[in-house]
Amino acid sequence: MKRKIRKVAVIGAGVMGSGIAAHLANVGIPCYLLDIVPASLTEEEKHKGYTLSSPEVRNRFADRAITGLLKQKPPALFVSENIDRITPGNMEDHLNCLAEADWIIEAIVENLEAKQSLFAKIEGLRKADAIVSSNTSGVSINRMVEGRSKEFKQHFMGTHFFNPVRYMKLLEIIPCEETDPELVSFMCEFGEKTLGKGTVICKDTVNFVANRIGTYGLMVTVQEMVKEGLRIDQVDALTGPVIGRPKSATFRTLDIVGLDTFVHVANNVHENVTDPHEKEMFVVPNFMREMVKRGWLGQKSGQGFFKKN
Ligand code: NAD
Repeated sequence: MKRKIRKVAVIGAGVMGSGIAAHLANVGIPCYLLDIVPASLTEEEKHKGYTLSSPEVRNRFADRAITGLLKQKPPALFVSENIDRITPGNMEDHLNCLAEADWIIEAIVENLEAKQSLFAKIEGLRKADAIVSSNTSGVSINRMVEGRSKEFKQHFMGTHFFNPVRYMKLLEIIPCEETDPELVSFMCEFGEKTLGKGTVICKDTVNFVANRIGTYGLMVTVQEMVKEGLRIDQVDALTGPVIGRPKSATFRTLDIVGLDTFVHVANNVHENVTDPHEKEMFVVPNFMREMVKRGWLGQKSGQGFFKKN
């Protein structure tokens, strides 16, 4: 019987989870978007008389993510009505959603232990033939499912979308050692024909393919700039349209990616590669660490290498 993805559950209603949910909604697939239950009330919630058991509070993270999707520029949705295909929820009251899903996508914090404990929970809740995948940028796919059953691992893989999901064409597919090869082929076909992505099958190596190469390229440029004493606008003038990048050159790209995300990826490669040259290349310059400390994270914080207009 040909496999069908009729319903998806996305866990983690942050930047990526909400972007993936919007993309699914855009191609006509209904999905749940689940997040954790908040541990405390905001001032506004207190003012409205809500308690920690009010549904408005318990679904706060997913609700906010969905409202945020409607405001995004460039838009995350082809048409705003597509939002109706996304159902918000939380990981305590709506766990039964997981049993309805043909595909469960994990998009929570980039932390091995958090992901491992989530997959342990999902194992007892997913339906028998559901695909489970992680959107991790760099945590080992095999380590994430250590301790899970053979059946679970056969249905598990990395599906790494890029930000912003609607606009970024690449989808990396990272099988674990036990992933059923038929599911890998299915996901490539589904990714290309239904989601409109270009898929690349990657080995479970540090930061897979695109982030490893992309971060390397940015690190080389940043380090050369520091050595040569170039200004950021000079570097961007040399690394934008003149080398075939339509708009975003080095520092504009860093502002879009987020300085914290970039530093996290670079540190991860630095800590996990063995080649001494590569290790050295991924040492983040002090000025970038300082920017992260100050909260100059790029577009998301309004200030990075450039100020957001
Ligand atoms: P984010 O911090 O924006 O969102 C993470 C969300 O997960 C938060 O809303 C948080 O409340 C929720 N969460 C945490 N633990 C949870 C749990 N146990 N159950 C349910 N929800 C939980 O993070 P993000 O940027 O969306 O990244 C998510 C994943 O995607 C990470 O693995 C990241 O490495 C990867 N990724 C990020 C980007 C990017 O550009 N931001 C790109 C590609 C991949």
